Amino acid sequence: MTDIKIKTPNLDEIFEKWKQGAVRSDKKKMEKQFGTKGAIFSLDAISAAEYVKDTQKEVAIYFAIKKTVGEVTKKTDERTVLPPKVARETFYSFKGKGKINKDDWKGDDMVPLYETLKTIPCKNCNGKGYVETKCKTCKGTGKIEEQLQVLTGEEQKKEVKPFSYSCGVCFGVGTSKEQCRDCGGYKNTYKYQILPVPFKTVVTGIPVLHSSAQTKYEKEIERDLHQMIEEVEGIRFNDFKDLEAKAEPSLGYWNKNIKKTISSASSDHKSYSKDKEAQITSQIYLFPMIQMFCQSKKGTKYEIYSLGSANKFMIYSNF
Ligand SMILES: [Zn+2]
Ligand SMILES: [Zn+2]
Repeated sequence: MTDIKIKTPNLDEIFEKWKQGAVRSDKKKMEKQFGTKGAIFSLDAISAAEYVKDTQKEVAIYFAIKKTVGEVTKKTDERTVLPPKVARETFYSFKGKGKINKDDWKGDDMVPLYETLKTIPCKNCNGKGYVETKCKTCKGTGKIEEQLQVLTGEEQKKEVKPFSYSCGVCFGVGTSKEQCRDCGGYKNTYKYQILPVPFKTVVTGIPVLHSSAQTKYEKEIERDLHQMIEEVEGIRFNDFKDLEAKAEPSLGYWNKNIKKTISSASSDHKSYSKDKEAQITSQIYLFPMIQMFCQSKKGTKYEIYSLGSANKFMIYSNF
Protein backbone atom coordinates (compact mmCIF):
# COMPACT_ATOMS: atom_id res chain seq x y z
CA MET A 1 0.00 0.00 0.00
CA THR A 2 2.48 2.62 1.14
CA ASP A 3 6.15 2.35 0.62
CA ILE A 4 6.50 6.08 0.35
CA LYS A 5 8.80 7.90 2.63
CA ILE A 6 6.90 10.65 4.37
CA LYS A 7 8.48 14.06 4.40
CA THR A 8 8.44 15.77 7.77
CA PRO A 9 7.82 19.52 7.92
CA ASN A 10 10.91 21.61 8.57
CA LEU A 11 11.35 23.55 11.78
CA ASP A 12 10.96 26.99 10.22
CA GLU A 13 7.64 26.02 8.68
CA ILE A 14 6.35 24.68 11.98
CA PHE A 15 7.56 27.69 13.90
CA GLU A 16 6.06 30.05 11.34
CA LYS A 17 2.68 28.35 11.56
CA TRP A 18 2.79 28.53 15.35
CA LYS A 19 3.81 32.20 15.30
CA GLN A 20 0.97 33.22 12.97
CA GLY A 21 -1.56 31.32 15.06
CA ALA A 22 -0.25 32.64 18.36
CA VAL A 23 -0.37 36.27 17.28
CA ARG A 24 -3.90 35.78 15.95
CA SER A 25 -5.18 34.31 19.17
CA ASP A 26 -3.32 36.56 21.64
CA LYS A 27 -1.24 39.41 20.24
CA LYS A 28 -0.68 41.03 23.62
CA LYS A 29 0.84 37.91 25.03
CA MET A 30 3.19 37.64 22.07
CA GLU A 31 4.27 41.23 22.51
CA LYS A 32 4.88 40.65 26.18
CA GLN A 33 6.92 37.51 25.59
CA PHE A 34 8.87 38.56 22.48
CA GLY A 35 8.70 42.34 22.25
CA THR A 36 11.44 44.86 22.92
CA LYS A 37 10.63 47.97 24.93
CA GLY A 38 10.51 51.07 22.81
CA ALA A 39 10.64 49.11 19.54
CA ILE A 40 7.73 48.42 17.23
CA PHE A 41 6.66 44.79 17.62
CA SER A 42 7.36 42.72 14.51
CA LEU A 43 6.81 39.02 13.93
CA ASP A 44 9.75 38.89 11.53
CA ALA A 45 12.19 39.24 14.37
CA ILE A 46 10.91 36.08 16.03
CA SER A 47 12.79 33.18 14.47
CA ALA A 48 13.04 29.47 15.10
CA ALA A 49 16.81 29.69 15.11
CA GLU A 50 16.69 31.96 18.09
CA TYR A 51 13.88 30.56 20.19
CA VAL A 52 13.78 26.83 19.49
CA LYS A 53 16.22 25.30 21.94
CA ASP A 54 15.85 21.65 21.09
CA THR A 55 13.82 19.35 18.87
CA GLN A 56 12.95 15.71 18.84
CA LYS A 57 11.53 13.55 16.10
CA GLU A 58 8.78 11.34 17.38
CA VAL A 59 5.62 9.66 16.13
CA ALA A 60 1.94 9.66 16.93
CA ILE A 61 -0.42 6.84 16.20
CA TYR A 62 -4.06 7.56 15.86
CA PHE A 63 -7.24 5.61 15.33
CA ALA A 64 -10.87 6.28 16.17
CA ILE A 65 -13.37 4.06 17.88
CA LYS A 66 -17.05 4.22 18.57
CA LYS A 67 -18.32 3.13 21.89
CA THR A 68 -21.81 2.40 23.01
CA VAL A 69 -22.59 3.87 26.38
CA GLY A 70 -25.67 3.85 28.53
CA GLU A 71 -26.54 0.24 27.95
CA VAL A 72 -27.05 -1.56 31.20
CA THR A 73 -26.87 -5.26 31.73
CA LYS A 74 -29.90 -7.33 30.90
CA LYS A 75 -30.04 -8.73 34.42
CA THR A 76 -33.18 -8.45 36.48
CA ASP A 77 -33.97 -8.99 40.09
CA GLU A 78 -37.27 -9.98 41.66
CA ARG A 79 -38.66 -9.45 45.13
CA THR A 80 -41.57 -11.10 46.92
CA VAL A 81 -42.72 -9.22 50.00
CA LEU A 82 -45.64 -8.70 52.38
CA PRO A 83 -47.93 -5.73 51.77
CA PRO A 84 -46.50 -3.37 54.45
CA LYS A 85 -43.11 -3.67 52.73
CA VAL A 86 -44.61 -2.75 49.37
CA ALA A 87 -45.82 0.48 50.90
CA ARG A 88 -42.32 1.30 52.09
CA GLU A 89 -40.69 0.71 48.70
CA THR A 90 -40.10 3.54 46.20
CA PHE A 91 -41.26 2.58 42.75
CA TYR A 92 -40.36 4.05 39.39
CA SER A 93 -42.31 4.26 36.19
CA PHE A 94 -41.09 5.13 32.70
CA LYS A 95 -44.29 4.31 30.88
CA GLY A 96 -44.77 6.67 27.96
CA LYS A 97 -41.74 8.71 29.02
CA GLY A 98 -39.30 7.51 26.37
CA LYS A 99 -35.68 6.71 27.00
CA ILE A 100 -33.68 8.30 29.77
CA ASN A 101 -30.52 10.31 29.27
CA LYS A 102 -27.96 8.61 31.47
CA ASP A 103 -26.02 11.80 32.17
CA ASP A 104 -29.08 13.44 33.67
CA TRP A 105 -30.17 10.46 35.72
CA LYS A 106 -29.78 10.71 39.45
CA GLY A 107 -30.24 7.37 41.08
CA ASP A 108 -29.51 3.71 40.71
CA ASP A 109 -29.23 2.03 37.35
CA MET A 110 -31.58 -0.70 38.55
CA VAL A 111 -34.90 0.34 40.12
CA PRO A 112 -38.18 -1.26 41.29
CA LEU A 113 -40.61 -0.85 38.42
CA TYR A 114 -44.17 0.07 39.36
CA GLU A 115 -45.70 -1.69 36.35
CA THR A 116 -44.30 -5.02 37.45
CA LEU A 117 -46.07 -5.01 40.82
CA LYS A 118 -48.31 -8.09 41.03
CA THR A 119 -50.57 -9.57 43.68
CA ILE A 120 -49.80 -13.19 44.37
CA PRO A 121 -52.49 -15.09 46.36
CA CYS A 122 -50.87 -17.06 49.15
CA LYS A 123 -50.50 -20.70 48.20
CA ASN A 124 -50.21 -21.92 51.74
CA CYS A 125 -53.66 -20.63 52.80
CA ASN A 126 -55.23 -20.39 49.33
CA GLY A 127 -55.57 -16.67 49.78
CA LYS A 128 -57.64 -16.88 52.95
CA GLY A 129 -55.08 -15.52 55.35
CA TYR A 130 -55.52 -18.36 57.79
CA VAL A 131 -55.21 -22.10 57.92
CA GLU A 132 -57.78 -24.33 59.53
CA THR A 133 -56.74 -27.04 61.91
CA LYS A 134 -58.75 -29.57 63.83
CA CYS A 135 -59.90 -28.22 67.17
CA LYS A 136 -57.85 -29.84 69.88
CA THR A 137 -60.54 -29.48 72.52
CA CYS A 138 -63.29 -31.32 70.63
CA LYS A 139 -60.95 -33.25 68.34
CA GLY A 140 -62.70 -31.77 65.35
CA THR A 141 -66.22 -32.85 66.24
CA GLY A 142 -67.46 -29.46 67.37
CA LYS A 143 -69.08 -31.18 70.30
CA ILE A 144 -68.04 -32.13 73.79
CA GLU A 145 -69.51 -35.50 74.73
CA GLU A 146 -70.11 -36.12 78.39
CA GLN A 147 -72.10 -38.53 80.50
CA LEU A 148 -74.91 -37.51 82.74
CA GLN A 149 -75.92 -39.52 85.77
CA VAL A 150 -79.61 -39.72 86.39
CA LEU A 151 -81.13 -41.40 89.45
CA THR A 152 -84.54 -42.73 88.52
CA GLY A 153 -87.56 -43.34 90.76
CA GLU A 154 -87.88 -44.34 94.31
CA GLU A 155 -85.04 -46.78 93.92
CA GLN A 156 -82.89 -44.05 92.57
CA LYS A 157 -81.67 -46.37 89.91
CA LYS A 158 -78.52 -45.10 88.35
CA GLU A 159 -78.82 -44.36 84.72
CA VAL A 160 -76.27 -42.88 82.44
CA LYS A 161 -77.54 -40.53 79.78
CA PRO A 162 -75.46 -39.02 77.02
CA PHE A 163 -74.97 -35.30 77.19
CA SER A 164 -73.25 -33.31 74.56
CA TYR A 165 -72.76 -29.64 74.11
CA SER A 166 -71.16 -27.37 71.62
CA CYS A 167 -67.40 -26.85 71.88
CA GLY A 168 -66.58 -23.51 73.46
CA VAL A 169 -63.19 -23.24 71.77
CA CYS A 170 -64.23 -23.68 68.14
CA PHE A 171 -67.81 -22.48 68.59
CA GLY A 172 -69.04 -25.86 67.42
CA VAL A 173 -67.33 -25.81 64.08
CA GLY A 174 -64.69 -28.39 64.94
CA THR A 175 -61.86 -26.42 63.44
CA SER A 176 -59.89 -23.43 64.57
CA LYS A 177 -58.30 -20.71 62.42
CA GLU A 178 -54.65 -19.89 62.71
CA GLN A 179 -52.89 -16.99 61.06
CA CYS A 180 -51.08 -18.25 57.94
CA ARG A 181 -47.35 -18.25 58.49
CA ASP A 182 -46.52 -17.54 54.86
CA CYS A 183 -48.63 -14.44 54.27
CA GLY A 184 -48.98 -13.35 57.88
CA GLY A 185 -52.76 -13.22 57.48
CA TYR A 186 -52.60 -10.71 54.61
CA LYS A 187 -53.95 -13.29 52.12
CA ASN A 188 -51.53 -12.15 49.42
CA THR A 189 -47.90 -11.51 48.89
CA TYR A 190 -46.61 -9.01 46.33
CA LYS A 191 -44.06 -9.53 43.67
CA TYR A 192 -42.17 -6.86 41.73
CA GLN A 193 -39.08 -6.60 39.59
CA ILE A 194 -35.95 -4.53 39.88
CA LEU A 195 -35.14 -3.63 36.30
CA PRO A 196 -32.58 -1.49 34.49
CA VAL A 197 -33.56 2.12 33.87
CA PRO A 198 -34.29 2.40 30.11
CA PHE A 199 -31.31 4.55 29.19
CA LYS A 200 -30.74 5.97 25.76
CA THR A 201 -28.00 4.19 23.96
CA VAL A 202 -25.42 6.74 22.97
CA VAL A 203 -22.75 5.99 20.45
CA THR A 204 -19.78 8.27 20.80
CA GLY A 205 -16.72 8.68 18.69
CA ILE A 206 -13.56 8.44 20.68
CA PRO A 207 -10.11 9.33 19.39
CA VAL A 208 -7.23 7.19 20.51
CA LEU A 209 -3.77 8.69 20.33
CA HIS A 210 -0.46 7.23 21.31
CA SER A 211 2.58 9.38 21.04
CA SER A 212 6.22 8.64 21.61
CA ALA A 213 6.86 12.22 22.73
CA GLN A 214 6.83 12.55 26.48
CA THR A 215 3.96 14.99 26.54
CA LYS A 216 1.38 15.94 29.11
CA TYR A 217 -0.79 17.30 26.32
CA GLU A 218 -1.75 14.04 24.68
CA LYS A 219 -5.44 14.49 25.52
CA GLU A 220 -5.59 17.97 23.98
CA ILE A 221 -3.67 16.90 20.91
CA GLU A 222 -5.93 13.89 20.60
CA ARG A 223 -9.04 16.07 20.68
CA ASP A 224 -7.67 18.56 18.14
CA LEU A 225 -6.48 15.82 15.86
CA HIS A 226 -9.86 14.10 16.01
CA GLN A 227 -11.46 17.22 14.59
CA MET A 228 -8.75 17.88 12.04
CA ILE A 229 -7.92 14.38 10.92
CA GLU A 230 -8.63 15.16 7.26
CA GLU A 231 -6.34 18.18 7.41
CA VAL A 232 -3.33 16.21 8.52
CA GLU A 233 -1.34 13.85 6.36
CA GLY A 234 -0.21 10.59 7.84
CA ILE A 235 0.42 7.11 6.59
CA ARG A 236 -2.57 4.85 6.85
CA PHE A 237 -2.46 1.19 7.72
CA ASN A 238 -5.09 -1.49 7.99
CA ASP A 239 -3.27 -3.44 10.64
CA PHE A 240 -0.39 -3.14 13.03
CA LYS A 241 1.62 -5.88 11.41
CA ASP A 242 1.94 -3.74 8.31
CA LEU A 243 2.60 -0.63 10.36
CA GLU A 244 5.36 -2.31 12.33
CA ALA A 245 7.07 -3.44 9.15
CA LYS A 246 6.88 -0.11 7.37
CA ALA A 247 7.11 2.50 10.12
CA GLU A 248 10.86 2.95 10.15
CA PRO A 249 11.44 3.12 6.37
CA SER A 250 8.45 5.45 5.98
CA LEU A 251 9.58 7.82 8.68
CA GLY A 252 13.26 7.73 8.00
CA TYR A 253 14.07 7.93 11.71
CA TRP A 254 13.64 5.68 14.68
CA ASN A 255 14.12 5.49 18.42
CA LYS A 256 13.32 3.27 21.40
CA ASN A 257 10.27 5.28 22.40
CA ILE A 258 8.80 4.96 18.94
CA LYS A 259 9.14 1.21 19.09
CA LYS A 260 7.52 1.11 22.53
CA THR A 261 4.71 3.39 21.45
CA ILE A 262 3.87 1.25 18.44
CA SER A 263 3.67 -1.88 20.52
CA SER A 264 1.48 -0.29 23.19
CA ALA A 265 -0.81 1.22 20.54
CA SER A 266 -1.00 -2.20 18.96
CA SER A 267 -2.12 -3.89 22.16
CA ASP A 268 -4.61 -1.08 22.78
CA HIS A 269 -6.01 -1.59 19.29
CA LYS A 270 -6.27 -5.32 19.92
CA SER A 271 -8.22 -4.86 23.13
CA TYR A 272 -10.66 -2.49 21.40
CA SER A 273 -11.20 -5.02 18.68
CA LYS A 274 -12.15 -7.59 21.33
CA ASP A 275 -14.41 -5.17 23.23
CA LYS A 276 -18.01 -5.94 22.32
CA GLU A 277 -19.16 -2.40 23.05
CA ALA A 278 -16.46 -0.80 20.95
CA GLN A 279 -16.06 -0.60 17.24
CA ILE A 280 -12.93 0.62 15.48
CA THR A 281 -14.08 3.15 12.92
CA SER A 282 -10.92 4.30 11.21
CA GLN A 283 -7.72 3.03 9.75
CA ILE A 284 -4.56 3.35 11.77
CA TYR A 285 -2.69 6.58 11.09
CA LEU A 286 0.99 7.00 11.65
CA PHE A 287 2.09 10.61 11.91
CA PRO A 288 5.53 12.10 12.11
CA MET A 289 5.56 14.20 15.24
CA ILE A 290 8.07 16.90 15.93
CA GLN A 291 8.46 18.16 19.43
CA MET A 292 10.09 21.57 19.78
CA PHE A 293 11.30 22.89 23.10
CA CYS A 294 11.19 26.66 22.99
CA GLN A 295 11.92 29.59 25.19
CA SER A 296 10.53 33.08 24.65
CA LYS A 297 12.65 36.22 24.76
CA LYS A 298 11.31 36.80 28.26
CA GLY A 299 12.46 33.34 29.32
CA THR A 300 9.14 31.46 29.37
CA LYS A 301 9.50 27.84 28.36
CA TYR A 302 6.90 26.24 26.11
CA GLU A 303 6.57 23.46 23.60
CA ILE A 304 5.30 23.18 20.06
CA TYR A 305 4.26 19.90 18.54
CA SER A 306 3.69 19.28 14.88
CA LEU A 307 1.78 16.31 13.60
CA GLY A 308 1.72 15.28 9.99
CA SER A 309 3.78 15.59 6.85
CA ALA A 310 5.34 18.63 5.23
CA ASN A 311 2.24 18.74 3.00
CA LYS A 312 -0.37 18.79 5.69
CA PHE A 313 0.39 19.13 9.35
CA MET A 314 -1.24 20.55 12.43
CA ILE A 315 0.43 22.11 15.37
CA TYR A 316 -0.28 22.14 19.05
CA SER A 317 1.34 24.33 21.64
CA ASN A 318 1.07 24.94 25.34
CA PHE A 319 2.31 28.53 24.89
ZN1 LIG B 1 -63.81 -27.46 69.16
ZN1 LIG C 1 -51.33 -17.39 53.62
